[in-house]
Amino acid sequence: MRIGIDLGGTKIEVIALSDAGEELFRHRVNTPRDDYAATVQAIVDLVRLAEENTGQQGTVGIGIPGTLSPYTQRVKNANSTWLNGQPLDKDLAEALNRDVRIANDANCLAVSEAVDGAGAGQPLVFAVIIGTGSGAGVAINGESRIGGNGNAGEWGHNPLPWMDEDELRHRAEVPCYCGLQGCIETFVSGTGFAIDYQRLSGKALKGAEIIRLIEQQDPVAELAMSRYEMRLAKSLAQVVNLLDPDVIVLGGGMSNNDRLYQTVPALMKQWVFGRECETPVLKALHGDSSGVRGAAWLWPLKV
Ligand SMILES: [Zn+2]
Repeated sequence: MRIGIDLGGTKIEVIALSDAGEELFRHRVNTPRDDYAATVQAIVDLVRLAEENTGQQGTVGIGIPGTLSPYTQRVKNANSTWLNGQPLDKDLAEALNRDVRIANDANCLAVSEAVDGAGAGQPLVFAVIIGTGSGAGVAINGESRIGGNGNAGEWGHNPLPWMDEDELRHRAEVPCYCGLQGCIETFVSGTGFAIDYQRLSGKALKGAEIIRLIEQQDPVAELAMSRYEMRLAKSLAQVVNLLDPDVIVLGGGMSNNDRLYQTVPALMKQWVFGRECETPVLKALHGDSSGVRGAAWLWPLKV
């Protein structure tokens, strides 16, 4: 049995999967925000709950909104900031009396979709979360590629490629929280989409409200979406030029816009070197469950 934990800023979710990927147990609790010791305890309690309910012991994988530094073995880059600097895997291994595996939540999405999702069986899956923020992960033969710096897939903090005049202005006006400017995340996250709509219209609306306006043929909302599609296409074309993945999978709130799966692949061709690109861009099959399923699959079957 595999136990996966999705450690989010507001909820912690546990899932227990059989070897066949069947869901045996699932439960979620509120995240004890700003309290590291309580967060560790909440994870331990969820693992015990899953094991009591299934009567089995499992391997434990955890998806976090950050990464473990390969140099210090401590959490870095987590927007749940009380995790940063903490030796989360060591503390959990001690509390649970077994090895645990920890990966970034976007890496978990990539693993989940590579094992039995939209990219099932594909050798190289590039998975993108376009939600409040934007991150990406790489799965090679169903396993997470983390890299010596823990940075594989951190494409969201590359600069948007081939910026036009307006994008250069956006770069100056909307700095990224990472300390640099012009990061892909500032354009292709749901937050970036809403900011761009606000720059066009002067109105601060939520993503879902802008999508409703598009359905009502609002020209400014439509313009924001077409700009968004082009920016996502440029950013993914750059991934094709670098990695040429077998499939690109999208997750997170913005991935629920079904038009992206027609518009973005068509727009990518003009930016890919040689102008040929048939790379499938697909919606995450497991939706919001991909993070927690991928955390469980951090322990692959052959281990
Ligand atoms: Zn950045």
